[in-house]
Amino acid sequence: MIDYFLTEEEEMIKELARKIAEEKIKAKRAYYDETQEFPWDIVKIMAESDLFRIFIPEEYGGFGGGVMSLTVAVEELSRGCAGIALAYAGTALGTFPILLFGNEEQKKKYLPRIAEGELAAFALTEAQAGSDAGNIKTRAEKRGDYYVLNGTKQFITNGGEAGIYTVIALTNPEKGARGASAFIVEKGTPGLSFGKKENKLGIRASATREVIFQDCKIPKENLLGKEGMGFIIAMKTFDYSRPGVAAQALGIAQAALEEATKYAKERIQFGVPIANFQAIQHMLADMAIRLEAARALTYQVARNIDKGNTKITKESAMVKCLASDVAMEVTLNAVQIFGGYGYMKEYPVEKLMRDAKITQIYEGTNQIMRNIVASQLLKEVK
Ligand SMILES: Cc1cc2nc3c(=O)[nH]c(=O)nc-3n(C[C@H](O)[C@H](O)[C@H](O)COP(=O)(O)OP(=O)(O)OC[C@H]3O[C@@H](n4cnc5c(N)ncnc54)[C@H](O)[C@@H]3O)c2cc1C
Repeated sequence: MIDYFLTEEEEMIKELARKIAEEKIKAKRAYYDETQEFPWDIVKIMAESDLFRIFIPEEYGGFGGGVMSLTVAVEELSRGCAGIALAYAGTALGTFPILLFGNEEQKKKYLPRIAEGELAAFALTEAQAGSDAGNIKTRAEKRGDYYVLNGTKQFITNGGEAGIYTVIALTNPEKGARGASAFIVEKGTPGLSFGKKENKLGIRASATREVIFQDCKIPKENLLGKEGMGFIIAMKTFDYSRPGVAAQALGIAQAALEEATKYAKERIQFGVPIANFQAIQHMLADMAIRLEAARALTYQVARNIDKGNTKITKESAMVKCLASDVAMEVTLNAVQIFGGYGYMKEYPVEKLMRDAKITQIYEGTNQIMRNIVASQLLKEVK
C-alpha cells in the first residue's frame, strides 16, 4: 500500500466518510439508483456528521480543511455511491465561487448555512452553451438596487434541492463572455423555478434540473466580485473543483477494482477460480496500476492547491481527465471480469460503469480537458 502521508485530520475525514459509505450509503444505493428519489436521509446524516464543515473556513463555522480534505471525503463517499455523494460534491462546487470571490458579508451570510448542511449548486450551462460556456444568454439587468435575471440554466446538479445557487449571467451582453457576472440566488426568490428532473444513465440519486429565471429580482449585494468577472469566477471555480470530479472517479474505480478482484477469486470456471487465468490477472493488474497513478496525481494536485499554488488550471484539468478515463476503463473491465453476471443489476458493477461515464463529461468534457492541457503546454514550452 502506498502511504500518501495524510494528516491526522485527513485520516479522520477519510474514516468518517468511509463509515458513512459502508454503513449508510451502501444499503440504500440500489434503492436511490432505481427510484431516482433525492437521498435526503443520507444528506442529513452527512450534515449531522459535520461533513459539510470540512471545506468551510473556521470563522464561518467550518473546520478549515482544503481541497485535499474534500478530495478524500468525496472519494470515500463515491466508493459507496457516486450519485449520493454528488449531493455533497455538487455543494462544494456551488460553494467555491463564494469561498474564492465572496466578500465578508456574503461569506458571513451563506457559508455557515452550508457548513450546517444546506445544499448549494453552480449554474453555468445552458441549452446552447455547454462546452462553449461563453455563449450563455441568461441576462442579469441592473435596475436600481437590484439585478433582474432572465434565462434558463440546464443540467444543474442539486437543482431544486439546493437552497443556494451561484449563477453566471450576462450583465453586459455586447461583451460576450467578458460581460458575464456571478450572483448568489436563494431558493424561494420570486421568479426562480425549476424544470423537470432529468432521467439519467448513471448518478441517478443526484438531482439534475433546469434552473429557470423569470424576472427574478435579487439584491445588488448578491453580485460576487465585480461585474464582468463572471467567466473568470467560473473558470477559477473549476480549477478548484475538478480534483473533486477526479475524486469521484477514484472512488468509483476503487469500488470496481475491489468487486472484480473478489469475484475473480470466487468464480470457478474450468475447475479453477478465474483469478488463476493470466488474462484476468493482467486486467486486474492494469486496473490497479492506472488507478494508483491517477490517485497519486490527484492527491498531489489537491495538495498543490492547498499550498497556495494558483497556476493549477492545466493540472486540475489533467487529473479530472486522467482519473475519469481510468474510472471508465476500470469499470468496463470490472463488468468484463464478471462476465454475464456483470451485466445484471443484482451485481454492483454495472451501476459503477454507468456512474463512471459522467465523470468524463461534466465540469468540462475530457475533450475540453485535453484542449486546456494542450493550450497551456503550447504556451509553456517555448
Ligand atoms: C448529469 C449532469 C450534471 C451536470 N451538472 C452541471 C452543473 O451542476 N452545473 C453546470 O453548469 N453544468 C452542469 N452540467 C453540464 C455539463 O458541464 C455539460 O454537459 C458539459 O460541459 C458538456 O456540454 P454539452 O452537454 O452541451 O456538450 P457539447 O458541448 O455539446 O459537446 C458535445 C461533444 O462535442 C465535444 N466538443 C465540444 N466542443 C469541442 C471542442 N472545442 N473540441 C473538441 N470537442 C468538443 C464534446 O467534448 C462532446 O463530446 C451537467 C451535465 C450533466 C450531464
